[in-house]
This record gives sequence, C-alpha cells and structure tokens, in this order.
Amino acid sequence: MKHETKNDRVLQGVGVGNRRVSGTLRFFHRNEPSHKRSSVSLGKTDEWARLQDALNQVKHRLAALYERARRQVGEDEAQIFEIHGMLLEDEDFLEALREEIDAGASAEDALRRATQRISAMLEGLDNEYLSGRASDIRDLERQLQQVLFGASETDTTQEKSPFILVADDLSPSETVMLEKSQILGFVIFRGSSNSHTAILARAMGIPALVSVGVIEERFDGTFALLDAEEGTLTLSPTEEQTSLFSEKQKKDDRIAEEHDRYLRSLMNKPAVTKSGHRMLIYANVGSGEEVEAVLEAGADGIGLLRSEFLYLSADDYPGEELLFRAYSDVAVQMQGKRTVIRTLDIGADKKISYFGLPEEENPALGFRAIRLCLARRDLFKTQLRAILRASALGRLAIMLPMIVSVDEVKQSKRLIEECMEELKRENKRFDPKPELGIMIETPAAVMMCEELACEVDFFSVGTNDLTQYTLAADRQNPALTTLCEENTEPILRMIEMASTAIHRHGGWIGICGEMAADLHLTQRFADLRIDELSVSAPYLLGLRGRVTECR
Ligand code: PEP
Ligand code: MG
Repeated sequence: MKHETKNDRVLQGVGVGNRRVSGTLRFFHRNEPSHKRSSVSLGKTDEWARLQDALNQVKHRLAALYERARRQVGEDEAQIFEIHGMLLEDEDFLEALREEIDAGASAEDALRRATQRISAMLEGLDNEYLSGRASDIRDLERQLQQVLFGASETDTTQEKSPFILVADDLSPSETVMLEKSQILGFVIFRGSSNSHTAILARAMGIPALVSVGVIEERFDGTFALLDAEEGTLTLSPTEEQTSLFSEKQKKDDRIAEEHDRYLRSLMNKPAVTKSGHRMLIYANVGSGEEVEAVLEAGADGIGLLRSEFLYLSADDYPGEELLFRAYSDVAVQMQGKRTVIRTLDIGADKKISYFGLPEEENPALGFRAIRLCLARRDLFKTQLRAILRASALGRLAIMLPMIVSVDEVKQSKRLIEECMEELKRENKRFDPKPELGIMIETPAAVMMCEELACEVDFFSVGTNDLTQYTLAADRQNPALTTLCEENTEPILRMIEMASTAIHRHGGWIGICGEMAADLHLTQRFADLRIDELSVSAPYLLGLRGRVTECR
C-alpha cells in the first residue's frame, strides 16, 4: 500500500520488532547461473548420480546452516534447517525425482519438475502448515540447482557500510547466510509477520518490514527511513521527515538505555515481589557454551540443562569420561550456583539413529526419556555416574524427565545408590546427598504430587509437554499453536494443584517450560507461590525486572 504525496513516498507494510533505522537501500541479487539449464540427459545412471551428489552437498550445507543459526538465534529458530534436511530425505520427494530421471530428464529438469509438482500439491492443501512447506521445497530446489550449476552463493552486494536489505522474499538459508553486522534492517515485498524470515529477523534483533509490496529497482541506493514500530518505509525523505525520525530514534535510545540500566541495576539482587515472595531466576541451557551468557545476565542458577545435547551431536554413545568433563565444566563455571541437570530425554521429537529405537505410531506417547533410561540401565548409569562425579566439583542437582509414577522415581533412586556404591569402591569423589527432582510434564505427575513429594527435593514444571499432554495437542504441530496459546488456564490450574501439594511437603517448585518466560503470567506464578522460574538467557533480565513489579 503506497501513500504518495509531492514530497514524500511512504510505503506501508507490517513491522517486525519495534526499532527504527535509517540507511541506504540495497537490493538483494541472487547469483543466477551463467549458462542455461541443461535439458540433455547424460543417461539415467549419470543423472541420478549427479542428483545424489547435489543432495549430499546440500545436506552438508544445511547441517552447517543449522549450526550457524543455532549460535546466532538459538535452537528453536535453527530447527527450520533440520526440517529442510529431513525434506531432502523424504521418500515422496526422492520418488518424484527418480520418476523424472527414469523418464529421461536431466538432473536439473527432474528437480524443477518434481519440486513444481510437489509444491503445487502442497499449496493446494487446506492445511496452513503443509501449504507453508511449499516455500521450503522451492528454497531447497534453488540450493540444489545452485550446486548442479556450480553457481556460487548468493551475492549480497560488496557494500562496506551497513545497509537496509530489500528483497522480494528471503529464504531462511539466505537470511542466516547474511553478514549480520552489515544489515540495518530488512524490507521484504511479500511474507507475513510469521514467515521464517520475520521470525529469524526478530531473533537476530534486526528490524524488518514485510508485505510491503514491490519496490522498483531504481530505488537501489536510495536513502530511506525504516520504522518497524509504525510499519513504514519512507523513501528519499525530506529534511523535516529525517529530523523528526531522528528525534524519535533518540527518544527510543534513551528509553532503551534507561530500561537496560534499570534492569542491570537489579541483576545481582534477589528477585522479590512487592509482597515479599522471592523467586529464583534460573536459566535454561542446551550446552556448556551458554554458561557465560547466563552468568553475564545474572542468573541465580541453571534450572534446566537439557543433557541430550552431547548425545545428539555424537555419532555413538558418549562415554562416562566425556560426560564427566562436560558436566564438571558447567559445575565449575557456575561457581557454587545450583545447576539442575536433567537426565537424558531422548525419544519423541528427539531421535538419535545410534540408539536404534523402533519406529512408533505415536512417538510423543512412546518409549522416551525415563522409560528408555530405566529399560537401558547401563546407558542411564553411565550418565548418572558422570553427574555424580561432577557433583564433587560444584552444586549439581539431578532432575528426572517424564515421570508418571512413584515407582519410576524409586527405581531411579536405587540406580543412583548403586552408582554411589560403585564410585565409593573406586575411590571416586561425589556429593553424597545431591538434590533430586523430577519434571512435571504429565497430568499423572500432577495428580501424584503428594506421594512424589515424599520421594524428591524439588519439582520443575515442563509446560511444553504438560500442555501437550493436558490438551491432547501435539507440540510439533503448528496448526495447534493457537489452541495451546488460548488454553493456558487448565495448565495454570494444574500448576496450582502441584504447588499446593509440594509446599505442604516442604519441597520447592519451579517452571522451566516456555510459559516461564511469558511476562503476562509472572503475577499469576507469584500468586501460586512458585519458587523458581527458568528461562533462556535473553529473557533473564526482563523476567527479574518483572518479578520485582509483581504484587
Ligand atoms: C518442557 O516439556 O516444558 C520442557 C522444558 O522440556 P522439553 O521442552 O525439553 O521437552
Ligand atoms: Mg519436556
């Protein structure tokens, strides 16, 4: 939508983030291959081999993109590249390619026709999630064609100074490959505020304007004002517009600085509500690499160390020594602050090939986490021994995932005792009384809280899974996101039940699922006397500030 008057040219779009930036517009150009697509087949065997080679190269590239995105924007946002990797192995996709090659097509033509066919089919479906996969398929085609043509990566201009990037659309891989320090903002012709590019822009803290409509290329190099708060792009602004804009920017900066100063002033103080309820502000981490950021943001401890990471990044079972080194690194770095290590939660959406687990009809309801660990005791004991040994070097607590019964806890406790006996015999040091806790991720755990509280020291509510199992809504299915967001009340009532029972027995209760970071719920959590909230590093300071504002 454009409003043009004599001396201004203001384009309206949908703002992502709330920042304002000014700078030169640079249009995004994709490197197109210099020669035409080959439509001559070299023979079925050769063309199939060329395709296989391209698929392998792109698979490796996606793994690198995943790592890069994970570091830049975190695990959740990086998952899109894992999904792309899975699409490359999708049987329907491979079958469609094979059919084209068998019919005499070149690798390039087979790829083009198969992706056209699949994306048209997906777009025609009455399912938002599946139709959204069509653009993923097209993104993959572009990457595969690049490999087949031997074209280089996308050219994002040779600019020395930062600029506002303008593009018809950007795929997730293109977004992540951009040099972040060069980009002041994004302007995207199409897309929505929930497109992958918008999500990545938000996570990278770069303001963006999407769905702005086509901007003619003659504006390449034009100075412009991008206002993500108001959702506008002003091309070649007048002096008056520019000075008004910089006034707003200065005001934003002052407010942001003040807020940041205020939050930093709270950093090493206890988070206490106005009525005097203390809440520990803990961090969720996926690996030891995040500990520095966690300490910098003044976390009181680590409330959830997802210990799957060492297993997910390995090709084979990690041994006790490797685990011990990783856990002791964290324990030492945390300098006496409590670190809760959640024992292995494998299965459901977290698959590891070397575990050789059978396919399941309903993996989320399947053989995962504590169920797997209790069935494969050697595997579980290796991890428990490593945690216990590391507990001699710092304040470590053990937390069991996916508990549904007292018996599972009793069995785990027996194994911990067995490990302690072994370590004693081997003259290895460990904390003889490490705190033991469980996650509340199932309605069964809520209902059994009274009994469970007699067995353990603490509880942490995993609202991600508790929501999934309470609402019977698969957490992996984006079509159910709204349903989950709109139905938090049943989960809050479960937390209330659990909190009452646990406090009656003198235990403590925290929350480490995504809900813990929702500042709209902090007051409710304070009312429910929650003792600890555990969130990822970027949310720590804001959450501490919010707790101090609570009644
Ligand atoms: C949860 O279920 O809320 C949780 C924190 O565990 P995960 O997200 O790792 O399943
Ligand atoms: Mg969980």
